[in-house]
Amino acid sequence: MSELRKDPIMKRWVIVASERSLKPYDFPSEGEVATYPCAFCPGQERLTPPEVFSFRKENTGPDQPGWTVRVIPNKFPAVQASDFFYHADSGLFEKMAGVGVHEVIIETPEHYSDLADLPVQHIEKILHTFCQRMEAAEKDPKLKYCLIFKNQGKEAGASIQHPHSQLIAIPVVPKRVEEELEGAREYFYRKKSCVFCDLIREEMTRAERVILVNSDFLVCIPYAARFPYEIWVLPIRHTSSFLTVSLEEIRSLSLVLKKTLQAIKVGLDRAPFNFILHVAPFSRSGENYETYYHWHIEILPALTKIAGFEWGSGFYINPVIPEEAAQNLKNFVPKE
Ligand SMILES: [Zn+2]
Ligand SMILES: [Zn+2]
Ligand SMILES: [Zn+2]
Repeated sequence: MSELRKDPIMKRWVIVASERSLKPYDFPSEGEVATYPCAFCPGQERLTPPEVFSFRKENTGPDQPGWTVRVIPNKFPAVQASDFFYHADSGLFEKMAGVGVHEVIIETPEHYSDLADLPVQHIEKILHTFCQRMEAAEKDPKLKYCLIFKNQGKEAGASIQHPHSQLIAIPVVPKRVEEELEGAREYFYRKKSCVFCDLIREEMTRAERVILVNSDFLVCIPYAARFPYEIWVLPIRHTSSFLTVSLEEIRSLSLVLKKTLQAIKVGLDRAPFNFILHVAPFSRSGENYETYYHWHIEILPALTKIAGFEWGSGFYINPVIPEEAAQNLKNFVPKE
């Protein structure tokens, strides 16, 4: 099992998971052909751990072909379910058992497809799967946070080509999320409103960084985007939890996501990207995140590399002006 260690200076947790080094890598190097069919392809179900959830055709059983979305435990987990738990704090060195959930959401049976090309109804199923698995992870009282993310393309860290996203639920709140919570909490106490809600209103009024908007979602480039073409997808209705999103909102989000991913695909020439779903932590401490936190999606195209200055300073140098990025990407959003 892996171990979580806390950096005594930065208060940042690190997952020490040596098993992860055995992870298979099926992306072809130049001149090589990728493994096809891969372990995520239909007909290869015996090569993966047994599925924990799927959308599948009637009269087909688990771990058989016939699925449209399939969830399996990660074969090389960063954290894993266990009743064995420890949390030791010597003052300087704090550690914890690497308990948690690490699942792979296989988004489609089609090896060579990608999220941007899937029908809206299919993207809806993937989003419903996110909700279902997040809800399941919340049941383990040891866990505090659930992150759903996607690495698309080798340069964005994907090791398997077959379209998939991942869910990692862990017994601590990650530092990045903690920083967002702190910022939103501080703003709420000062202004008595949600910083994300205020931001949505302001961005819609100014319109210069808006890529697309419908009655439920705003897609924009953030004012201080860290990376070229960094994109945020913000629900217009205030809520901190993805689990309270309605069926209509899921439908609306699927459409908005498809259009955004299409714009990235065409406008940014199939740029690799990371997709991050930020929600409030599981409510264990009595903390009322709902008042000041607002769930959202961040899409980070991998067009630049994080290098010495960024690592050393926590600063980012963004070579593309956010307003220009938005205007440019807007041209590639499919009309209908
Ligand atoms: Zn495959
Ligand atoms: Zn809000
Ligand atoms: Zn965020």
